[in-house]
Amino acid sequence: MVAGEVVAPSVLTQPLTEVLGTKTAHKLTEAFGYHTVGEMLGHLPRRYAQRGELTDLAQLRLDEHVTVQAQVLSVSTKPMAHRRGSLTEVVLGDGQPGEATHTLKVTFFNQKWREKQLQPGVCGLFAGKVTSFRNRLQLAHPEYVLFDQADPEPDADSSDDSGGRQEVLEAFGSGPIPLYPATAGVQSWQLRTVMRTLLPLLGELEAEDPLPARVRQRHGLLGLADALRALHHPAQEADWQAGRARLRWQEAFVLQTVLEQRRAALRAQVATPRRAQQPHTPGLLEAFDARLPFALTPGQREVGEQIASDLAQNWPMHRLLQGDVGSGKTVVALRAMLTVVDAGGQAALLAPTEVLAYQHYRSITALLGPLAQAGQLGAAECSTGVVLLTGSATTGQRRQALLAAANGQAGLVIGTHALLQDPVDFADLGLVVVDEQHRFGVQQRDALRAKAARPPHVLVMTATPIPRTVAMTVFGDLDVSTLTQLPAGRQAIQTTVVPVQAQAWMDRLWQRVREEVAAGHRVYVVCPRIGAQEGEEDAPPVEGPLDLDSDPEGQGGCDEAGLTGVLDLIEQLRSGPLSDLRVQFLHGRMPATEKDQRMRDFAAGLIDVLVSTTVIEVGVDVAQATVMVIMDAQRFGISQLHQLRGRVGRGGLPGLCLLVTTAEQGSPTRQRLEAVAATTDGFELANLDLQARREGDVLGASQSGRRSSLRMLSVLRDEKLIARAKQEAHQVVTADPTLSTHPALAAAVAAAQSDHHADYLAKG
Ligand code: ADP
Ligand code: MG
Repeated sequence: MVAGEVVAPSVLTQPLTEVLGTKTAHKLTEAFGYHTVGEMLGHLPRRYAQRGELTDLAQLRLDEHVTVQAQVLSVSTKPMAHRRGSLTEVVLGDGQPGEATHTLKVTFFNQKWREKQLQPGVCGLFAGKVTSFRNRLQLAHPEYVLFDQADPEPDADSSDDSGGRQEVLEAFGSGPIPLYPATAGVQSWQLRTVMRTLLPLLGELEAEDPLPARVRQRHGLLGLADALRALHHPAQEADWQAGRARLRWQEAFVLQTVLEQRRAALRAQVATPRRAQQPHTPGLLEAFDARLPFALTPGQREVGEQIASDLAQNWPMHRLLQGDVGSGKTVVALRAMLTVVDAGGQAALLAPTEVLAYQHYRSITALLGPLAQAGQLGAAECSTGVVLLTGSATTGQRRQALLAAANGQAGLVIGTHALLQDPVDFADLGLVVVDEQHRFGVQQRDALRAKAARPPHVLVMTATPIPRTVAMTVFGDLDVSTLTQLPAGRQAIQTTVVPVQAQAWMDRLWQRVREEVAAGHRVYVVCPRIGAQEGEEDAPPVEGPLDLDSDPEGQGGCDEAGLTGVLDLIEQLRSGPLSDLRVQFLHGRMPATEKDQRMRDFAAGLIDVLVSTTVIEVGVDVAQATVMVIMDAQRFGISQLHQLRGRVGRGGLPGLCLLVTTAEQGSPTRQRLEAVAATTDGFELANLDLQARREGDVLGASQSGRRSSLRMLSVLRDEKLIARAKQEAHQVVTADPTLSTHPALAAAVAAAQSDHHADYLAKG
């Protein structure tokens, strides 16, 4: 997308039909959905070939539509074996003659005349869909254009593009050859011709440029028109690189402008400041701190002060608190909630699962003790009420909880995220804490706002560390606090990859589980599915922010049917290696009260081994649990594995995590597991995750040819750029919040919000 399409009148909004004629325009609309010159020019080359620089044929994948530069190694024609006609086979190579490293077979049916063109030694571009025949990749009936020949004889099936080929040969000259995402109907070189028709119409496009001239000057960026010329018709490599740099900047800048506007809008809202009473009277918070069985870490203290000062402002706090698993976020949140209650308001804590909501309720009422018993005999003087609101409460419990929330008796309301949708009224909701939620989006925040007379303060917590760039983009309208230390006394977690094929290892694994249980400890076993019956899938696992575009290839490409199921495994364990232990199961299809009962039994030591789906993934805190066995570990993403592993080693006992997998030694999936095993640093893993997922995404590795496949920014590489763009966007928005003096930018912002970015942002 070239932003600025909606700024009229402009050459960019001109219909393609007017410029290219109806026949060509319709073909392009059909192939790509483009209608305007601007949309068409937004179709950027996926990469550039240098003449003589052959494509690495080993990189081709089945079903891709590709354009490769290659050399003919051999050509031959033979009659078809079982039917009439002949088959011409051309073997292409990606090295010089005699040293071809990889080859690709190209076939033509009944076109013996092609032998004349495709002589050994000839180089050219070949475009087509990669198919497979007898386990070898091939291109059947590709389109092609050859470099070292005159225009090939026009042939029947593509008579309308011979002009295009001619022009391609001339135009390529010695410059880089743009290779466009193409389709079966429209070849890369035809697009090249289209672009050469459109480029001369451009002029300067000063009014359409979303990047203000001053920003461009300061950062040495091309104007929009120059960038498009450089991308579609580069004279040298540096040209298209400068073009890309400029579009990357634009993408970052527009995105940051959206976020800065959102931030400004938040700042403009009025919230009730929640600060300690003056003159100061000792309240809940002080009483709580005095009861706390441990000292806060310096980080917890510092973040606590940050939050307290946010709460004292008269605009709503929007803060993200990130801290590795076990870093003690709950206490920080609880202290913020108590601050609000001390100031006469209420606070809500939302958890992603009922299991976790129950656990929070239990641990918070335990930590508060008599402070949580307002209205009851023996309650402390400054105490408040704590209620739990979940979907599975009885009608009576529910009515009581709703009443306490509505009349203000309950200072703290704990529930699942479903609380957002429920018709829950609060007397005076001052703070909402959202636990373990990486995708707490703008819409959800809006839903919350509707629950309070004035927008409440919001604190979002996540245990998945978020690299700075992601924080700046996905969470760009939030302030971020980080807990970097773990509370003292945490033990190391040792992680080992266990190949499932090695029976001796598996025997040893279950033996180790028995040893742990004999020592009085408890064990989790996590499986990717519920099992017992086909198709019984659990709720989709909570994903990290980096799983937004979760890449199916990154998942190990394993067959669903072969995956370990909770109910199947539990039978095997009960009748086999763990027959003498108390083994129970837990999964998302069980009623919430039963799930909670299981978790409580596990915590209380009535269950030795809990075989579960990922419902135990987030936040669950059982100090005696020391071993985490993850079956089919290849099915889980890096951040998910890290989360699961964080369930053990929490109570001063060393933890052990065993990643059981079918992934072959040396395979990328196995390497991913080894990486998780090699470090427990959540930030390092988050970066690895990012690399694994985004590497190929810099210029749209997807070969689909749809324009939305293009994303210029790389969150890995572009950290500095994003930071600068953020600064510039901040200045622009501060000076002109409605962008009235930047119509092209305003249009680009509107387009970005309605484009895929909007989902991207909403998921933040
Ligand atoms: P997470 O950040 O993963 O949500 P929790 O808030 O569940 O972590 O804290 C993990 C455990 O550490 C809890 O049992 C909690 O009571 C304990 N904890 C929190 N802060 C401290 C501290 N400063 N010193 C010792 N233990 C702490
Ligand atoms: Mg937690």
